Amino acid sequence: MARAAGAGAAQNMDLCAVVTLDVRNAFNSAPWKLIDASLQWCNTPEHLINVIRSYMSNRSVLIDRDPDTNAAHLPVSFGVPQGSVLGPTLWNLFYDGVLRLSVPGPTRLIAFADDVAVVAVAHNAELLELAMNSALSAVSTWMAENGLSLAPEKSESIVLTNKYAYRQPEFAMNGCPVPVKSSLRYLRVHLDTRLSFVEHARVVAAGANKAATALGRLMPNTGGPTQSKRQLLMSVVYSRLLYGAQIWADEVSSTKKAKSLMTQAQRCAALRVARCYRTVSDMAALILERMPQAPHLAHERKSYAESRRTGTPHAKPELRKEVIRQWQSTWDATSKGSWTKRLIPDVGRWWYYGPKTTTYRMSQALSGHGCFQAYLFKRARAQSPACMHCTAVHDDAEHTIFNCPFWNDSRAELTRSLGRPSRPEDVADLLCGPIQEDLPTERCQQVRLLAAARRNSSLFAEMVESILGQKETLERARQKAAAAAT
Ligand SMILES: [Zn+2]
Repeated sequence: MARAAGAGAAQNMDLCAVVTLDVRNAFNSAPWKLIDASLQWCNTPEHLINVIRSYMSNRSVLIDRDPDTNAAHLPVSFGVPQGSVLGPTLWNLFYDGVLRLSVPGPTRLIAFADDVAVVAVAHNAELLELAMNSALSAVSTWMAENGLSLAPEKSESIVLTNKYAYRQPEFAMNGCPVPVKSSLRYLRVHLDTRLSFVEHARVVAAGANKAATALGRLMPNTGGPTQSKRQLLMSVVYSRLLYGAQIWADEVSSTKKAKSLMTQAQRCAALRVARCYRTVSDMAALILERMPQAPHLAHERKSYAESRRTGTPHAKPELRKEVIRQWQSTWDATSKGSWTKRLIPDVGRWWYYGPKTTTYRMSQALSGHGCFQAYLFKRARAQSPACMHCTAVHDDAEHTIFNCPFWNDSRAELTRSLGRPSRPEDVADLLCGPIQEDLPTERCQQVRLLAAARRNSSLFAEMVESILGQKETLERARQKAAAAAT
């Protein structure tokens, strides 16, 4: 409704208002006689009504505050049993009455559990006030007639519009004004006036960041849980981030601020899952974590939900292919993580065929952030960017892993197996195996080639572990000696 109201030229735009209502002690206040009436109204079979009548009769609450005084039994004739299977059904049958209320013009009542919202659309503030206040009055009367009471002081409202110039409408319920806010939370989704969902992204990103930081404490870079366990733990972060994705997926994808907020929260999780240094960029960390950006995942959820609703289900692998395509385009466009991009240019290949886990040292090699003099020098943690083991003036990941002659022994096996020294451009082949289309059709050749690829992959992993392991030991010894000398 809000999107339709905000469409078209400014002079044709309508105003859409949402008022959320708070019902006092709702589930404990539903009168049993009215639940019974609702069951009859919707033609519930007599035997089921009798079962429920039996459940809702001769019940009492035992009050026993003081052991010295006699306990008292208070008869109960209200409320649905909370935490039970039957409770929500009885509540929905009873509360359905509010949704059947006759409200004026383009006004709708929406409810989930006891959360009711009134949505009204009108061309200007006067007409909006008329429609909304009339609907609020009808709802308030229904609540009073059905044993429920509203808390007008807890009610809030928002105007959803793309208009810049309009008078702020004034809503009231039971003589109590309902404040119009710039953002409003309904069913855990934060709505803002222009439906940009920036506020929603800000709130969920803050919550997700907090969860990622807390969970991150369980995940040291060396040791700790395996990557699959880390991913499982961090799924809490994604549940928070992607809540209600079907509603905000389009807007968040087209709003730079909202996208950035969500990606920052993801980075916090990705650094811990992929055992990266804190300085690794969000884009590179997500590649190493093997997790697409939240807005892309939100689109995937939205498409899946839409296809289920329309009865033309997309296969999940097809939707994931689209996510990978979007991810590739973001990866191609970003200026971040240039070393990682050089090693892993093809997101799809990495996603489908890359290693499922990344060690602490492999993360250093793939991110370029680690025990490298140029990296340490840039962050004022080394005196010079020059290599400590040869004459090279710039010791970065490429130099350490592929070029520095000091580590030739660690590279020997892989060099022998490849028939030449390895290069950064080989990393995708080494970690993801050969491209499927390039495999020979002849079965024996194929098996031989795949076995050789697996061997080279493990030789590369061993080479990285060996080089960076020794380098860390030497660096620690050097630092210790320097500290002793001062
Ligand atoms: Zn060197």
